Amino acid sequence: MRSFYQLSHTDLTDLLKKEGFSTSATNRLFNWHYKRKEISPCDLKVSDKTKDFLKKHFHFDLPKIDTVIKAKDKTVKFLFKLHDGRKVETVLIPFHQKYSICVSSQVGCAMKCSFCFTGTQGLKRNLTTSEIVGQYLKAWLWLNENRPNEARISNIVFMGQGEPLHNFDAVKKACEIFLSQSGLSIGAQKITISTSGFLPGLKRWSEEMPGVNLALSLHSPFTKKRDELIPINKAFPLKEVLKYIDEIPLAKKQFVTYEYLLIKNFNDQSEDAHTLGKMLCGKRAYINLIPFNPFPGSTYKRPSQNEVEGFKAILDTYKIPTLIRTTKGDDVLAACGQLNTAL
Ligand code: SAH
Ligand code: SF4
Repeated sequence: MRSFYQLSHTDLTDLLKKEGFSTSATNRLFNWHYKRKEISPCDLKVSDKTKDFLKKHFHFDLPKIDTVIKAKDKTVKFLFKLHDGRKVETVLIPFHQKYSICVSSQVGCAMKCSFCFTGTQGLKRNLTTSEIVGQYLKAWLWLNENRPNEARISNIVFMGQGEPLHNFDAVKKACEIFLSQSGLSIGAQKITISTSGFLPGLKRWSEEMPGVNLALSLHSPFTKKRDELIPINKAFPLKEVLKYIDEIPLAKKQFVTYEYLLIKNFNDQSEDAHTLGKMLCGKRAYINLIPFNPFPGSTYKRPSQNEVEGFKAILDTYKIPTLIRTTKGDDVLAACGQLNTAL
């Protein structure tokens, strides 16, 4: 049986049309399951025949919560158990009285970046659209029940496990469901896809997902260092990726975020900062500096707060808006790059 949450608004309308049902039910069904977040079958004004058809062919199950870990700073990490027993993690990150949700797009990841805990497990499988949307719905329901006055998730970032552009079709459809006006109605500017620079996916992203934000994990302006950190840099060199991004027409006020992981004595020297500054100045760019989060078995080290601030001070001279990402939830291994479900 298929999951109802596999269907985009267009898919559902096409299906209802094909079966000879009224397509006006699509908005009502999206309203029921996404706006009202009901998981029981719809009891709004939808014909009995349509309801019976849906009940017969679709289920409304969400991923099951295996474990919930709450950090001191209110970050919540969910370990979800999927239908085949695989596990995947989702993190709710507190942010100005609201939450950002960091969703996973794959179990593991094929890109094998040397600094990433997820990368150490390799790709186990892609997530389906319903498993991506399910992470959001389940986390929302958990908040509604456990922190009733705070059940607001304002941003979605694809920064959990996996390379979202390497699972393009499922991620694209999940975004269509997030965006759907009669459903969750989340603005495109509130969704960010983070990529290591997987160029084939990036090309599709620019054509098929206009308005959705992009974050590029840059991590070093130097080929040799970036090759070491992100092995797909050899297949899709940074220069080509940046050239491609420069040609994407951005919406008004839209920026590209460049993530820069800071590793002590590796890519945190003033030469790195100046070369990065020269590379990005003049672009519609934000820089997010992410101090390396250690994990069991990692050999890289995290720079001190002073060193991180010194790096930022150099970038400031290039007039690029730069944020130091404070590590949230690291007391429960919920911070970026610490997601590994093979344990
Ligand atoms: N695959 C995508 C999105 C998931 S990773 C990507 O690579 O962009 C999300 C972010 O976490 C990326 O910027 C990634 O470089 C960063 N990250 C991975 N491991 C990390 C670690 N150990 N410490 C800090 N950030 C890490
Ligand atoms: Fe995959 Fe991103 Fe981790 Fe690289 S950093 S292994 S692309 S999840």
